[in-house]
Amino acid sequence: MPKLEAQPSPDTEARPPSHLFYLSSLRRPLVDRAEGIYFWTKDGRRFIDGSSGPMVANIGHSNRNVLDAMKRQMDKTTFAYRLHFENEPAEELARELAGKLPAGMDRIFFVSGGSEATESCIKLARQWAVATGQPKRWKVITRFPSYHGGTLGSLSVTGDDALAETFTPMMRVMPAVPAPTAWRDRDNLSMEQRGVRYADMLEEKIQAEGPESVLAFIMEPVGGAATAALVAPDSYYPRIREICDRYGILLIHDEVMSGAGRTGKFLGGDHWNCRPDIVALSKGLGSGYAPLGALAAPVRLVEPLLASGGFQHGHTYAGNPLACAAGLAVLGEMDRLDLIANAAAMGDVLIGELRELAKRFPFMADVRGKGLLLGVEMVADPETLKPIEPTRKATQRLLDHAYARGLIIYGRKVKGGVDGDNFMVAPPMIITREQIGEMIAIIGDSLEALAAELDLPVEG
Ligand code: PLP
Repeated sequence: MPKLEAQPSPDTEARPPSHLFYLSSLRRPLVDRAEGIYFWTKDGRRFIDGSSGPMVANIGHSNRNVLDAMKRQMDKTTFAYRLHFENEPAEELARELAGKLPAGMDRIFFVSGGSEATESCIKLARQWAVATGQPKRWKVITRFPSYHGGTLGSLSVTGDDALAETFTPMMRVMPAVPAPTAWRDRDNLSMEQRGVRYADMLEEKIQAEGPESVLAFIMEPVGGAATAALVAPDSYYPRIREICDRYGILLIHDEVMSGAGRTGKFLGGDHWNCRPDIVALSKGLGSGYAPLGALAAPVRLVEPLLASGGFQHGHTYAGNPLACAAGLAVLGEMDRLDLIANAAAMGDVLIGELRELAKRFPFMADVRGKGLLLGVEMVADPETLKPIEPTRKATQRLLDHAYARGLIIYGRKVKGGVDGDNFMVAPPMIITREQIGEMIAIIGDSLEALAAELDLPVEG
């Protein structure tokens, strides 16, 4: 099977050069419409959205009730600046959200995307520290690898050398501890002991940096693009909380990808009853219907900051009525269709099927994740975990094979990261058993093609 780049669609060839530019000059088919878990292109091809785009379209495409709610809002007003007016959709969405978040996380600040959300969390933490007489606290410890966004502020806590290196001179790059890749460790410790060991690395880092200078720790409770749905051992989560408490450090959970129901609970951290101090949300909150994100924090953090002159931060489109109406309707559909329960149930089916595939393709060294946020790490040798030679571009090849067969999956190799090649499977939360079967058949064929191309081990 030739690579996708070698097969431009007739439609692509007929199109004039584009004024748009993104990651590369590779042209993609023109999308025509989307419904449920499917996309159709102008040239009549159908794609399964096996990753909900970049884990965004949680409730699926073209949901009628969400579109109707947005239309109703459009007929009233699409924009009213938050410093001039309050608006009902923003008020209601904040109330709904507060009801779904851990107790006490009931102060909400809206933004328009994930990078804005994480950056807002960091700025909120810093302003809280200044307002409460702790101005020496400014360092935000992060994990490597990780992804928290692309703006300079959010990039300063993103653990990915390839994304950061060009911009390093322009940023205050923050200290990092290793992401808890406990499954890779070859020692005599149990997984639970390893979880504690990874958490303790945070304490060591705090000590090394000087505890009085550390403001916060930011982490994805279920890993996103940088670690392909990495999940820490259970012992990690309470230990991190303990350490943050011991040093008066704020715990920021970046739930931009893992939040809004995708993992089978409203927040990824809910699997461990986590009590973060600040939570960032986006992606599934607007579910692709509108650019939307939020941060949530308790009164005890927000109040001192408001008392000292207010949150000195904000973006023009934040809390706009149209995006909030979309978000409100998305949450409504999630409840009406019981999609979080479906994500949990279908996640079990999907991870089971992927683990079956791993028996046939042992180079799938780890299949992991929660609910419908699943990742697979691929290596050349499952015994030694020797990575596949990077120049062979295994992730890209696999993505291309799946794409050529009408399935979108997600994958990214992190430079300087500890991961091997990986891909993520994260379909919309409305997916059915039959549709999972359809996806798995394509993933199986694509892995077969990849194994043949790269001479990777195959059983039977
Ligand atoms: N945080 C996490 C965990 C993410 O996965 C992403 C995007 O992939 C972001 C932040 C940044 O979100 P956005 O691309 O909407 O700015």
